[in-house]
Amino acid sequence: MLGVSWACALILPPVMEDLGEALAAFGLTVSTTPDKGRCLLATRDFSPGEVIISQEPYVSVPNNSSTLRCDRCFMSSNLKKCSACQIPWYCGSTCQKLEWKEHKLECQALVGAGKERRNHLTPTIRLMIRLYLKRKLQKEQIIPTTAMDNYSLVEELVDHMSEIEEKQLVLYAQMANLVNMILKLPDVSIKDNAQNFSKLACNAHTICDSELRPIGTGLYPVVSIINHSCAPNSVLMFEGRLAVVRAVDHISKGTEVFISYIETAGSTATRQKTLKEQYLFTCTCPCCMKVGLQDDVQESAILEGYQCLNGSCNGFLIRNTDDKGFICQKCGCIRNKVEIQEIAIELKSLEDMASRTLASGNYQDACSIYKAIEPLQLKLCHSYSIDLMRTRENLLKILMELQDWNGALTYCRLILPLYQRVYPSIHPLLGLQYYTCGKLEWLLGETKSALKSLTKAVDILRITHGTNTTFMKDLLFRLEEARAEAAYRKTSIDAIGSV
Ligand SMILES: [Zn+2]
Ligand SMILES: [Zn+2]
Ligand SMILES: [Zn+2]
Ligand SMILES: [Zn+2]
Repeated sequence: MLGVSWACALILPPVMEDLGEALAAFGLTVSTTPDKGRCLLATRDFSPGEVIISQEPYVSVPNNSSTLRCDRCFMSSNLKKCSACQIPWYCGSTCQKLEWKEHKLECQALVGAGKERRNHLTPTIRLMIRLYLKRKLQKEQIIPTTAMDNYSLVEELVDHMSEIEEKQLVLYAQMANLVNMILKLPDVSIKDNAQNFSKLACNAHTICDSELRPIGTGLYPVVSIINHSCAPNSVLMFEGRLAVVRAVDHISKGTEVFISYIETAGSTATRQKTLKEQYLFTCTCPCCMKVGLQDDVQESAILEGYQCLNGSCNGFLIRNTDDKGFICQKCGCIRNKVEIQEIAIELKSLEDMASRTLASGNYQDACSIYKAIEPLQLKLCHSYSIDLMRTRENLLKILMELQDWNGALTYCRLILPLYQRVYPSIHPLLGLQYYTCGKLEWLLGETKSALKSLTKAVDILRITHGTNTTFMKDLLFRLEEARAEAAYRKTSIDAIGSV
């Protein structure tokens, strides 16, 4: 999911010229680079927090999850099903009416397809059905076409068909067959259809809520022009299904706009592997260009390597030349490979058990297993290890489920320094972590700490999230509440002091 056109032509087709005019209004332009294909450039300066571009999806669908969502605004309250096809949900008549032009044909097709086929309807199949129907509706001018909302932009997206494995192609063909049976469109071949599934796989974005939980999928052909960097100057967030790209750094005129396609916490080798596997390219961002250099070797050894056996030493370990162990770069102490392997094996079996237990919803048992994993990881890994960070994230999640607020706060605080190390100072996950911390502190009556954490959360999230959403209004309200309470306490203490 989520991606970009790496292999596209270097000459701008007419559709890109129309788009160029629309983008000029935002202070942006589409350019091409020899190695990366299309890219988005700023034609003016942008400050942190400023919206660079926002785009409604060409097509979108909510996820199949236990939390039902409105097909248009993705809200999850007051939902009613389409009475005819029984597939989409709407939060009210406003959203249903706004969606009707696009849903009408889909509804007829779904009713005609019969209950059995409707039951096999996955979000991806629906996305494809909606893609063809929107193309048809725009072609027949039933719904308007704009410079940023037209099928030609979808055609410009790459499909990476030549790099896809046979097994995947067979699956796409099966999915394409189902789409054809439902839509009965005469002009779409199985091959075109399969190609479009591949396009969706490379380009569709996972739509997340303000807390970065996935809620749906959408195709945003203009946002897809933005290239990836492991140290991006912008961030992609969603407000309902609207994609909003905001600057997190100062972006000066003439600079390329970048977002990150992946979770950036990890060594350069790990990030590069993920990008290659999911997006089929080799990243050449400034972080990745440091691969193999002293700083990068050290950082990788800290994030994914081992702890020094000497308890008071926090040095990082590098594989010894004799290949029998790892040597601490600070104190010279050698850690034996066999001893490392023994702990690693024990950890692996515990981790498998923990994730199974967590998936089954048995939070109490999952908590005990993760708590057994933590000291083992502390013994094996560096104290800034990503694995340790993930264990603590799981424990935080579990303790929140178990409503053990004190326990949750302990882990929330343990995670913060790890996040501060792996993420830049303006990053949505860091902001959200401060927010969780602040909420827990408030709940536990630690007003002063809550005020500090919520202030930090607002400082970050007002840049990454803006201030318009209900989520942010809620956070700003909590901050005011904490401020008022802290001021009140201070006056009370002052009053007592002056008696
Ligand atoms: Zn709605
Ligand atoms: Zn319907
Ligand atoms: Zn990179
Ligand atoms: Zn050491």
